Amino acid sequence: MDIKRIGSLPSRRGPEEYFTGVVRIDAPFSGSGTLSGGTVTFEPGARTAWHIHPRGQTLLVTAGFGRVQREGGPIEEIRPGDVVWFEPGEKHWHGAAPDCAMTHIAIAEIAGGSAVTWMEKVTDHQYGA
Ligand code: MN
Repeated sequence: MDIKRIGSLPSRRGPEEYFTGVVRIDAPFSGSGTLSGGTVTFEPGARTAWHIHPRGQTLLVTAGFGRVQREGGPIEEIRPGDVVWFEPGEKHWHGAAPDCAMTHIAIAEIAGGSAVTWMEKVTDHQYGA
């Protein structure tokens, strides 16, 4: 058993290359080395870039109001209690609503040393701002 105490790792900013707007990542974890994730908070209008996860990803929405979209699909609204699953290799993005922050816990399996492959940014037009 290993308890990572809150505050033992500083909050960090989602890097500008992979996120639009202000994104905060807290309590990152990488369990046995095969599972990784963390608590991600998006300020209003903030979102990830387009990306894929080699083994898929689960999002547990814990606060606020947000948006997700898979390539070729409609923008979907997400709220606390919603659980989102992205298939392995399914290109997608996730983020806050334009006027409301959103927090989710993200969990993804690591494959080949990485749990994510980043792509281009989500434009304002794609985001629907
Ligand atoms: Mn994702």
